[in-house]
Amino acid sequence: MTIEQTLSIIKPDGVRKKIIGEIQKRFKDAGLTVIKAKMTVFTIADAHRFYSIHKDKPFFNDLLTYITSGPVMVQVLEGENAIELNRKLMGATNPEEAEKGTIRSDFASSIEENVVHGSDGPDTARTEIEFFFG
Ligand code: GDP
Repeated sequence: MTIEQTLSIIKPDGVRKKIIGEIQKRFKDAGLTVIKAKMTVFTIADAHRFYSIHKDKPFFNDLLTYITSGPVMVQVLEGENAIELNRKLMGATNPEEAEKGTIRSDFASSIEENVVHGSDGPDTARTEIEFFFG
């Protein structure tokens, strides 16, 4: 049994859709505990740093505009196998490819506006939690 921590972000479209409570209920029902949470707004500089891995992608500028477009809810989730479990709850990046019943399948409107972020591995989880919570 591996208890892990992972970073989850309810992105600006998720906050605008008023589904923070619905998403957090899914975490709880899956056995994940929100152990830290804060609402914040990405500055352009934050967004550059957080998404630097995508800096050469054609959608990078659109991604910066989107992620800085309003408040986000940042959370540390803890639980057994939390990193993979959260990715499973989120569904695929493109909501059209996301499994039915996942957060993105149910709520995302496009491959860009896809409601949630989740760390994709132990190293990124550590770095991303540090990024927001020190
Ligand atoms: P994730 O780990 O599932 O969030 O996916 P990625 O790390 O590949 O991409 C980061 C974020 O960039 C995604 O969640 C989307 O918001 C955005 N994104 C990814 N691919 C595309 C794309 O092809 N076009 C646009 N406009 N945005 C994208």
